[in-house]
Parts: sequence; C-alpha cells; structure tokens
Amino acid sequence: MSLPPFSGDEPTCIKCGQTGAHTEYIPARTVRWTGYQATECLQRNCRRCGYAWDEAVVPPCPCTENSICSSCYDRRYP
Ligand SMILES: [Zn+2]
Ligand SMILES: [Zn+2]
Repeated sequence: MSLPPFSGDEPTCIKCGQTGAHTEYIPARTVRWTGYQATECLQRNCRRCGYAWDEAVVPPCPCTENSICSSCYDRRYP
C-alpha cells in the first residue's frame, strides 16, 4: 500500500473538514497502534477531531555540499 504524498501545513481532515493538522514523523520498522510500520511515514492528526492518517515523507532533495537545489534556495532566500 503506497502512502499519499505529504499534503503540507494545511490539509483538510476528511472526517470533520478542519483545515490544519499536527504532523509526527514515524521512523521505519516501528510498531504502532495500527500494527507494524515497515517504511517511514508522517502521521497527521486532525487538530479538531483527532482523526489520524498517514502520508509519505517528502522525497529527499538533490542538494549537495557545493550546490543547493532550487526548492532549498527558495526557502533560504525568499
Ligand atoms: Zn477532523
Ligand atoms: Zn535541497
């Protein structure tokens, strides 16, 4: 089962329609209340109703020591 991509800082809860959710990083090979989690993921928790769902971690960026990727550049020099 593949995870949906990370939905950013203001996802919409599919249960209550609230905008915005808490994010918690779940490392790979973690035993959770939902069972064994083989791959790392981000757990989102609705701030209003507490509904939780999983999303994929953001893909690793192509930065190296000597060059900065465009998304990191935008974040650093807005
Ligand atoms: Zn909710
Ligand atoms: Zn980068």
